[in-house]
Amino acid sequence: MRADEIREAFLAYFERHGHTRVPSASLVPAGDPTLLFTNAGMVPFKDVFLGLERRPYRRATTVQKCMRVSGKHNDLENVGPSPRHHTFFEMLGNFSFGDYFKRDAIRFAWELTTGVFGIPPDRLTQTVLDGDDEALSAWAALGIQQDRIVRMGEATNFWMMGDVGPCGPTSELHYDSGPAACTCGRPDCGVALDNGCGRWLEIWNLVFMQFDQAPGGTRIPLPQPGVDTGMGLERIASVIQGVPSNYDTDLFLPLFLHIQRLLGHSDAERAEQTVAYRVLADHGRAMTFLTSDGVVPDNEGRGYVLRMIIRRAIRFARRAGARDPVLPGLTDAVVSTMRGAYPDLATHAPFIREVVGAEEERFQQTLDAGLGRLDDLIADARRRGVTVLSGVDVFRLYDTYGFPPDLTRDVAREHGLEIDEAGFTAERARAQERSRAAETFQSDAKERAAYAALRETGTSSEFVGYDAFEAQGRVLALLRAGNQVASAAAGDEVEVVCDRTPFYAEAGGQVGDTGEIRTRDGVVAIADTQRPVPGLVVHRGRVAAGMVRVGETASLRVDAPRRRDIMRNHTATHLLHRALREILGDHARQAGSLVAPDRLRFDFFHLKPVSPEERARLEARVNEQVLAALPVRTEIMAYRDAVATGAMALFDEKYGDTVRVVTIDEYSRELCGGTHVGTTAEIGLFLITSESSVGSGIRRIEALSGRGAVAHARGREELLRETAGVLRVPVSEVPERVRQLVQRARALEAEVEAARTRAAAPDLDAIIQQAPEVDGITVVGINSPGADQAALRALGDRVKSKLPSGVIVAASASNGRIEVVVMATAGAVARGAAARKIMAVLNRRLGTRGGGRPELAQGGGGDPALLEPVLNDLPAVVREALAAVADGRR
Ligand SMILES: [Zn+2]
Ligand SMILES: [Zn+2]
Repeated sequence: MRADEIREAFLAYFERHGHTRVPSASLVPAGDPTLLFTNAGMVPFKDVFLGLERRPYRRATTVQKCMRVSGKHNDLENVGPSPRHHTFFEMLGNFSFGDYFKRDAIRFAWELTTGVFGIPPDRLTQTVLDGDDEALSAWAALGIQQDRIVRMGEATNFWMMGDVGPCGPTSELHYDSGPAACTCGRPDCGVALDNGCGRWLEIWNLVFMQFDQAPGGTRIPLPQPGVDTGMGLERIASVIQGVPSNYDTDLFLPLFLHIQRLLGHSDAERAEQTVAYRVLADHGRAMTFLTSDGVVPDNEGRGYVLRMIIRRAIRFARRAGARDPVLPGLTDAVVSTMRGAYPDLATHAPFIREVVGAEEERFQQTLDAGLGRLDDLIADARRRGVTVLSGVDVFRLYDTYGFPPDLTRDVAREHGLEIDEAGFTAERARAQERSRAAETFQSDAKERAAYAALRETGTSSEFVGYDAFEAQGRVLALLRAGNQVASAAAGDEVEVVCDRTPFYAEAGGQVGDTGEIRTRDGVVAIADTQRPVPGLVVHRGRVAAGMVRVGETASLRVDAPRRRDIMRNHTATHLLHRALREILGDHARQAGSLVAPDRLRFDFFHLKPVSPEERARLEARVNEQVLAALPVRTEIMAYRDAVATGAMALFDEKYGDTVRVVTIDEYSRELCGGTHVGTTAEIGLFLITSESSVGSGIRRIEALSGRGAVAHARGREELLRETAGVLRVPVSEVPERVRQLVQRARALEAEVEAARTRAAAPDLDAIIQQAPEVDGITVVGINSPGADQAALRALGDRVKSKLPSGVIVAASASNGRIEVVVMATAGAVARGAAARKIMAVLNRRLGTRGGGRPELAQGGGGDPALLEPVLNDLPAVVREALAAVADGRR
């Protein structure tokens, strides 16, 4: 069976048994900032298991894209050397939400592995939690002898999401490769030892969510227990295809051939470089899928992980002999081998190429910069007479510059230095601890307990505000600081829940509505509307007058002018999204969006700034659609149908099975739950006010529509009129007049500068004559208070022209900082007195920061009080610089 066939056989089997086939969610978990990556098949269903979300099905099956970069065995260092570990992998799973339980889950697993996959039953070993008789008898019911089933403790066979929440026993299926595969050599070799022996391979983990763990550790049986299972595709493929490692399956072999071609290796060279091939194949898959899901290289969070993966891949490619960039070719290879299962990849391929290509280029520059920094570290160690580079420095070189430690080690050795390995390992462990903390699966269930409790008692709110701004409803609940109350009086901050509401709760970038809720004798001014858990709308506000009580009828009225502004901006956002893809290309997908009454903000993937011409075309294209008065329609349909008709889905949104599709005539079609105008003409006018960068690969456009756009244009007009008035010219002549003024100002500045230099000139001939000498080098120091870098450089140049061989330190102190320029004649440089070396000594003595070339160095900062003493002691400074050089030669 090929991997493609395994995926399909798995999904089809569970579909036959009443499961809904759900597409893989993004690697970026939707609405869960506490989790770095989707790391298991159950992640997209977390809220369903927590009882916070309902789906139209109770059985589901998926092939889920997953990423793991830390954990028991998943540190990056393991990927490559180990035949089984990956960062990116695919997880096959079946799920029951309060439907079937242990007996069926176990029967499905057995039928599928032995029946559909054809694995001989005597090759499989089962584990259950010691004491879980229900699981034990479920296996026994399939004809498996009870004494063959291995009973394990909670360390291996109990699953928890966090400290609280759903948890339960597990049952695992292990594949037995036979005694010849044993690597532990123990006579009692077996699954029960859990010692990582190569003979036993865990292939499927069945989790039975049976309890709800309360804070303090008490476990309460769940009223509707569930099932969550996970089976790594790469592993099961290696078992079914009868190959020794995951990398020998057809998921990786075609990729290895691509890599061999990229590196130009012979078969023998390829065999020698197995680890590098595994790293490139694994990391190539990870970077391709991450970029496709909208992650771009960055210095923190998900982008940081991507950057580390890319850099590690480059290092292994270099080590395997690559001289030219390899990553764009590598990601192309991944796209071509995986596009069958993930058609999205083909669409995003050009964007992926560009992102990894740009990052590879940047890393080359990083390597160059890192070498410079390493030179400094080595020179510093020499000067201080130490032979070991500090572990913290080496780690920083790695962490900040991305400079590989093995390269640091090599370069250091060439200079007869070692690196502090223990210090480096300790520092790296500390950093890993930090990143691991970021990935901990924290549940915010506790905070949402009040809302979940409401949902559990059947409270829900119907949104009726797509067409109406007013509605009648009933107050179902009032919340004050997380507590349910029966009434609230004037002045109270309160959250109001009604059965029906025209208030739009913040979602999909569109801000929540404001307005008023009136009861018989109470008025609540609503400042925000939120949906903290699915199906529950919470109006937040303050009781303005009277009293509101649970059970009363209420009339709910949205601030309509504000909402109309929001609707204009939302429809304009869809037009902009479409126009971006038309003008910049298909990669310009949405990365984030804010739809407020007074403006809209749209973040999208694009590697370069948007040029002024592109910006003008975007604005014109959107306004064309506005003038065409295109009708805006919405319809509800099945998710699969919507995507099939080409509706744009956002990569980080979570969609249910039925979705709302917003169509703007033939022009745009997006999945969207927001509120929109009836025709684009209502937008009135669309203006882009700014374009900027928000991290590598993501650009941001801010824009206005409707009233905001008109007010903005009006304001600009007024500004221009006022400017023309000040300049005393007609509006049409403003640019020319300003150009003239700028030219005039530049000429005057130059004149002032020249005059200042003349005035500041001290008697240079006298200074040179009195200057001391060090080893035949004249040392000239000049303090020129108030002079800036340019003036100091001009001063230095004049001294240099009068000096046959020497160094000049020109400095000033003003505004609490020092400015300093160091120059050295060619003769002085030849004798070892390079300006850069002297600057380095000055940096230490003055506290300045600076550097430069042998002939010229510049710096600034430091403590002005130190300047005069150091200038008076310049010969010592030069001597120290010469000594450091001599040291370096030795
Ligand atoms: Zn063994
Ligand atoms: Zn929308």
